[in-house]
Amino acid sequence: MTADSCLLCRGAAADDELERIEVWQDAHWRLTVSLSSEIAGFAYLEPKRHIRYLHELGGDEALSFGSVLARCMQALKDAAGAELVYLYVFGDGIPHLHVHLAPHRAGDALNEQMIRGEIVEEKLPNGMTRFFSDTFPALPRGDLEATADRVRSLLIGG
Ligand SMILES: [Zn+2]
Repeated sequence: MTADSCLLCRGAAADDELERIEVWQDAHWRLTVSLSSEIAGFAYLEPKRHIRYLHELGGDEALSFGSVLARCMQALKDAAGAELVYLYVFGDGIPHLHVHLAPHRAGDALNEQMIRGEIVEEKLPNGMTRFFSDTFPALPRGDLEATADRVRSLLIGG
């Protein structure tokens, strides 16, 4: 997909089609709020420039991302009377970066599930709760350590 054929590059012109309304923008970013959602204030933060994925973020968008994100999340939290705002980035739908922001209140439609299958909760001795899927058990610890080693090497060498 190129910028010419990208729905999100059309900006406000595509908002009706996507059932959302623009609530803020600056030179690099725009924030829209969904008009078709289980969640009040469910929003999308997107760069105006055609940047596909978060790992490709660069330039002024990369420099401003943190402060823009925090400002938008604070406004969504306050406007929706939420306790906090969940953030989701997937990227395998429309290949133009869109950060999903979901104000969350206790008992609403959102949960903490990130994996498929029946979720099993395990209380740990330290008081934390571990969530895992009965369909996808944890991978062998050695495999996970090897991946961690590769990430460390890519980031700091070694
Ligand atoms: Zn685009």
